[in-house]
Amino acid sequence: MSFVAEFGALPQETLLKFAGSAIATTVRGAAAKSRLTLADFAVLISPAASELLEPLCRRSQALTQQRFGKVIRLFAPLYLSNECVNNCKYCGFSRDNPILRVTLSVDEVLREARALKEQGFRNILLVAGEHPRFVSKDYLADCVRALHDEFPAISLEVGPMETEDYLPIVLAGAEGLVVYQETYDRAIYSDLHTAGPKRDFNWRLETPERAYTAGFRRIGIGALFGLADWRFEALCVAAHADYLLRNCWKAQLTISLPRLRPSAGEFEPLARITDRDLVQLVCAFRLMFPDVGLVLSTREPAKLRDGLVPLGITLMSAGSHTEPGGYTGAGKEHLHRTERGRIVELGASEWATSNGGARHATGQFDIADERSPQEVADRIRHLGYEPVWKDWDAALTA
Ligand code: SF4
Repeated sequence: MSFVAEFGALPQETLLKFAGSAIATTVRGAAAKSRLTLADFAVLISPAASELLEPLCRRSQALTQQRFGKVIRLFAPLYLSNECVNNCKYCGFSRDNPILRVTLSVDEVLREARALKEQGFRNILLVAGEHPRFVSKDYLADCVRALHDEFPAISLEVGPMETEDYLPIVLAGAEGLVVYQETYDRAIYSDLHTAGPKRDFNWRLETPERAYTAGFRRIGIGALFGLADWRFEALCVAAHADYLLRNCWKAQLTISLPRLRPSAGEFEPLARITDRDLVQLVCAFRLMFPDVGLVLSTREPAKLRDGLVPLGITLMSAGSHTEPGGYTGAGKEHLHRTERGRIVELGASEWATSNGGARHATGQFDIADERSPQEVADRIRHLGYEPVWKDWDAALTA
């Protein structure tokens, strides 16, 4: 049975009621268990649990150190393309946004990757909008092949594909696939995704399963917090993770906790999630899934990221750029502007005024932690943790 069927049978209302009616005793009971159910998770994200955040943080910290040691893995996103056939109201790359776009050539991707290697990264996430013409399976496989010798850990965050289309990418050396459902609320999902293949909620929901079948050994899931009630989203992510741990058990699972950031299109969040809620969420996921990696990106400000390091996070991005060519300026000569999906030539004066006078592709969203990777690594060390740039080598399993 796929997760689509299991998701359809999820007692969402009942679980949300658990969250709404929990009291301190039930929170303490759930936190003390060694194996938690979804009902326990609901209790841990309740308002009552928010009042017990300190003991929850201590338990989360202890569990994380026990399972992962005092280690934070670092990675960087490498944007390949900001072309996209979808309209997602919250995303700067939406097809209808009149922005500067480019798809990097494989050589340009290599140049960007080597700039990241210079900074210490060996773990990279290749990111692209969904555009089968520019970001085809062959293009992605070529990119992975070009990088594989120098980067032992390559993951992708790209438009969902058929299982057989993932195969050449896995064969080329990619080990991870990340796909966020964005929101698990079908009505909100339908309202926010107004054009393109991403409108198909179920197709996206089944993507981690197809990725697993194709042989990816790391699977990343998550919701984009700020689109629907955070407790609802968290419950659905937990249910999804629970399903994947039972059915795709050979893969390592990660859960990301991205919150909406400003972007082209100027979408305003539909639901609020505070810093304190985010801390509670990290603790709840850690207690529910002691062995699952928890990912925090540069969407969050430095101070909050530093505060979350000891509480359950295991994987962090650093020094991120969300525009293709962001690390070296690669691809500038192929920039073009699109309006409603059609290329519009720019005159010299428009080039001069676009992007504040600088010619570079438009980013997906604004980042909040602007520290360099070295500054982030120094801070992690200062907090008593070890920053790890590489923790996996495919040669070890050959
Ligand atoms: S969220 Fe992804 S699919 Fe949607 S517009 Fe942005 S890049 Fe395209």
